[in-house]
Amino acid sequence: MMSIQAASGAIISIRGLRKSFGPNVVLNGIDFDVMPQQVVVVIGPSGSGKSTFLRCCNGLEKAEGGRVDICGHTLVNEGRMLPEADLNSLREEVGMVFQSFNLFPHLSVRENITLGPRKLRGLSRAQAQIEADELLKKVGLTDKADAMPASLSGGQKQRVAIARALAMKPRVMLFDEPTSALDPELVGEVLQVMKLLASEGMTMMVVTHEMGFAKEVADVVVVMDGGVIIESGSPQTIFTNPAQERTRSFLQAVLSRG
Ligand code: ADP
Ligand code: MG
Repeated sequence: MMSIQAASGAIISIRGLRKSFGPNVVLNGIDFDVMPQQVVVVIGPSGSGKSTFLRCCNGLEKAEGGRVDICGHTLVNEGRMLPEADLNSLREEVGMVFQSFNLFPHLSVRENITLGPRKLRGLSRAQAQIEADELLKKVGLTDKADAMPASLSGGQKQRVAIARALAMKPRVMLFDEPTSALDPELVGEVLQVMKLLASEGMTMMVVTHEMGFAKEVADVVVVMDGGVIIESGSPQTIFTNPAQERTRSFLQAVLSRG
């Protein structure tokens, strides 16, 4: 057994993380630590392994090599995964928001938010509703509590998805391109909620192409390419003086697109 240790004080610690799909090596040795209250923005070309990296951090994908420690659990170590029961409690501590919202279409906004707390945190309907209404206020959707998801804009749906994740009282939030499916005019309202969370001290890992958000909010920017982290650093360094030519050309491609 390799003696790989989590960094002390880190809330997420990743060592030698490897993941393949068949012959396709998607993560090829990732080492990274996230400290409590840090906001880490992950950037890199399509197919570089960003989503897989995030999914390995909450057990949606099983890494076959290396180790992931998160919120005090060893999620995976050399291919051995936490038992299912512990995995469920870990997922309560690690919230995830996807590009495609994934709201329950047959439930109202409020019911989308109260379902998890009632089932998994054992809250009464009344208590879950009180908490849901507080969260809806936080994401600016108090007036949509009884609406059905289909009646909402993409930006509103994504804010509900964030509120739903927060209802589990997570210690870490993972965002996988949360604004990529939105019309441009709706991106800002979602980023604003994420900025609020960051300012409240939420630990966050965010895959995004929103470089303005990264510059303003990230403590650390991680650049992935070909299944590895090619560099990481402050937004200032990554955006103005990256060490890697591949970072430079990726940023040029993203910035010339808009
Ligand atoms: P990114 O989010 O940076 O675009 P992904 O992590 O989604 O990258 O994908 C990295 C690589 O892994 C891609 O080549 C993709 O086709 C492959 N991949 C991702 N998920 C799966 C899967 N479930 N089965 C097979 N291949 C996958
Ligand atoms: Mg992706």
